[in-house]
Amino acid sequence: MAALFSERMSLIVQKYGGTSVGDPSRIMNVAKRVIATQEAGNQVVVVVSAMSGVTDGLIKLAREVSSAPTEREMDVLLATGEQTTIALTAMAINALGKKAVSLTGAQAGIITDGVHTKAKIANITPKQIHGFLDEDCIVIVAGFQGQTMSGQITTLGRGGSDLTAIAIAAAVKADICQIYTDVEGVFTCDPRVVPHARKIAEISYDEMLEMASSGSKVMQSRSVEFAKKFKVPFEVRSSFSNNPGTIVKEETMSMENVVIRGVSIERNQAKVTITNVPDKPGIAAKIFNTIAGANIIIDMIVQNVSVAGTTDISFTLNKDELPKAKAALDSLVKEIGAQGVIAQDGIAKLSVVGIGMRSHSGVAAKLFDALSAGGINIQMISTSEIKIAVVIDEAKIADAAKLAHDAFGLGEKG
Ligand code: ADP
Ligand code: ASP
Ligand code: MG
Repeated sequence: MAALFSERMSLIVQKYGGTSVGDPSRIMNVAKRVIATQEAGNQVVVVVSAMSGVTDGLIKLAREVSSAPTEREMDVLLATGEQTTIALTAMAINALGKKAVSLTGAQAGIITDGVHTKAKIANITPKQIHGFLDEDCIVIVAGFQGQTMSGQITTLGRGGSDLTAIAIAAAVKADICQIYTDVEGVFTCDPRVVPHARKIAEISYDEMLEMASSGSKVMQSRSVEFAKKFKVPFEVRSSFSNNPGTIVKEETMSMENVVIRGVSIERNQAKVTITNVPDKPGIAAKIFNTIAGANIIIDMIVQNVSVAGTTDISFTLNKDELPKAKAALDSLVKEIGAQGVIAQDGIAKLSVVGIGMRSHSGVAAKLFDALSAGGINIQMISTSEIKIAVVIDEAKIADAAKLAHDAFGLGEKG
């Protein structure tokens, strides 16, 4: 009988973020929503984050005992945040009279590479998930964590529970993947920065990916990349209402009619400039191999026109990575015969994103006009097919976001 029924049921993966499981009453709210989903005739796999503030608290604790904890031990520590939530969520569901079981990332069959604190998922064998679903259990999986082939605990980078949810949805061939968070969906800009930003009904993977990777942290960018690769459509919606959210899916024809889908901002950026770099083949490769070798993720790169055989090379990166980058570059600078390294923080990045940019001109001019009207100086510019990004003074970033948002009419009813 069970097998007959399961053929007609939908399999739904729901992910609840940190705020949605932020205290016991919110965990009860999640438990009730999950039970309602099951009672509507579905099988449910739930992915949960650590309770809000817990991961940050654990990082702070680590710093109090060591200035440079190993990344392996950081993963052992950070994975405990999600482990607390899975147990509490399963207990809450049990207390409401339903069957639920919690699984760590490892128990859920999530195998990753060995790059601690930003591991990539290599494969998922969801044997235990299917086993418990077949027993009519609601399965609660710890987000953000996995294990290596040799059994070491790993984590998937900040915001990594989104990736767990999308990857599990792909692995179990879920019918629906829902990402529940503390806003009603993906907005034209972070609603905490631009209060009149509007909810986007549908967005393409590429636009979501560009927005996420340029600072719209409503989705972890690696999770969107994964969803695009494995064609997993998903919905971002609120755990505090029943309103429809934002559907993220493959591009459709009509999506190109909108020139700019949204504006992203990213604070806490820094700029590194290597001065008087000899302008000859192989030097840039040396610099960026050194940076890559230190596992530092960089963003924009600008090389000036060379004067008298030397040039300046600048790149941006997260402010937290600055000490690591400086340490990696200090000895290299002498080796390649450059003059020195200048590090500057207090900058931020603003990006406008939209696939309509491919077929519309004048987007850059409009953005630069809007910023200049607000007296905002542009320090660096970069473009992709569907994005224009600028680096500006961090103190002006919220004003810049409002100016760009309004210049492209994003707050108006569409
Ligand atoms: P969760 O804990 O559920 O994963 P996050 O804090 O990671 O939630 O992401 C949700 C937050 O993302 C929102 O509270 C909002 O401030 C922020 N955000 C940034 N950009 C956007 C955007 N374009 N649309 C919606 N939310 C955004
Ligand atoms: N708890 C992890 C973090 O805060 C993962 C997540 O919430 O998605 O980054
Ligand atoms: Mg998140």
